[in-house]
Amino acid sequence: MAEARKFERVALIGLGLIGSSLARAIRMHGLAEAIVGCARSEATRATSMSLGFVDAVFADPAKAAAGAELVVLCTPLGAYADIAAAIGPGLAPGAIVTDVGSAKQCVIRDVGPHLPDGVHLVPGHPVAGTEHSGPEAGFAEMFEDRWCILTPPPETPEDATEAVAAMWRRCGMRVERMDPQHHDYVLAITSHVPHVIAYTIVSTALGLADETKSEVFKFSAGGFRDFTRIADSDPVMWRDVLLNNREPVLEMLSRFGEDLAALQRAIRWGEG
Ligand code: NAP
Repeated sequence: MAEARKFERVALIGLGLIGSSLARAIRMHGLAEAIVGCARSEATRATSMSLGFVDAVFADPAKAAAGAELVVLCTPLGAYADIAAAIGPGLAPGAIVTDVGSAKQCVIRDVGPHLPDGVHLVPGHPVAGTEHSGPEAGFAEMFEDRWCILTPPPETPEDATEAVAAMWRRCGMRVERMDPQHHDYVLAITSHVPHVIAYTIVSTALGLADETKSEVFKFSAGGFRDFTRIADSDPVMWRDVLLNNREPVLEMLSRFGEDLAALQRAIRWGEG
């Protein structure tokens, strides 16, 4: 297992919960000489500078990525194709592009075609997080004792994948490699469908509370509280996950629907 490499310049595109946590962890473990970031809004850029987890911030992803040895995409998945098109021409041979997105086949589809020869793509998914968003919600210890899944395409050189793996291990993660399609099916049932269920059940309860003027939320116990917590997650991020992992999510929802119908029938017929 290789020692984690110290990068000259790491560029984080997106400085929300995950991007800002990674910036903090890279700083804490001394994994880069310089950490630069990119965010759309002036507010996020100013907060990131004042919290001190980046050395410089840019509104233009191409300016942040120029000259970086490692670029990490940390925005919602729907922004990846435009960002990759913007940063691709300015990347030097040998640069590594990775990401933190919650689905993986779409990264190869949306980012791969924009990278010039000699720039290496290592899609990644740190399976860690909270329901909060934005640069203030991040913390350096987020990745400790959690899994990180890497899904490099066959043409990516081993040393590029290992450089990304070593960075995540230094941040405290256990790293596993997986086929991107397999990743997307596994995460559809363990993460994506649970979010769909949480959003839906909270929406049903909100409708009921409105209709009956009853105190559905006041008397909600532990189980329902967990649903409301999960349903508090950023809707833009989850919209992009679901639309970019459409087939696996629909497949798992259909299996879930069948199992739910079977349980519903057993309840109806008193089959204890
Ligand atoms: P977040 O807190 O909402 O942060 C998103 C960041 O991306 C913000 O800094 C936002 O900038 C920036 N951004 C959005 N669109 C952009 C664009 N077009 N160009 C440049 N910057 C842009 O989201 P997050 O929770 O960190 O999620 C980021 C990624 O991590 C997603 O792909 C998600 O699938 C993945 N992920 C999330 C979790 C989780 O638990 N949240 C766990 C694992 C992986 P502004 O602040 O200026 O709008």
